[in-house]
Amino acid sequence: MTLVPPSLEARQRRALARAFSWGLQAEVRPVDRRHWRVPSIREPGLLYDVALTTRDGREHLACSCPAGVADMPCAHAAAVWLWRTEQMTGGSVIGVRPG
Ligand SMILES: [Zn+2]
Repeated sequence: MTLVPPSLEARQRRALARAFSWGLQAEVRPVDRRHWRVPSIREPGLLYDVALTTRDGREHLACSCPAGVADMPCAHAAAVWLWRTEQMTGGSVIGVRPG
């Protein structure tokens, strides 16, 4: 499938495209149903924590990386989003339109 998420901001789409181009969704390590660890691209061995939270009644993926802490869309949360999409659909994401 090719993802075309129309409701996402351009920044979020770019984070998704970045995660996808790195193949980061294949590196997602589930901890439990609401927590994942995702490796840093720049610092080998470093893992960031991504948690599924709720914000304004909607699901929100919060990441422990510097961008995530600054409330910016990051590739780690995007990777978990791609991973969950694949889990929920049973499909493989083969492309993300950068928008
Ligand atoms: Zn992050």
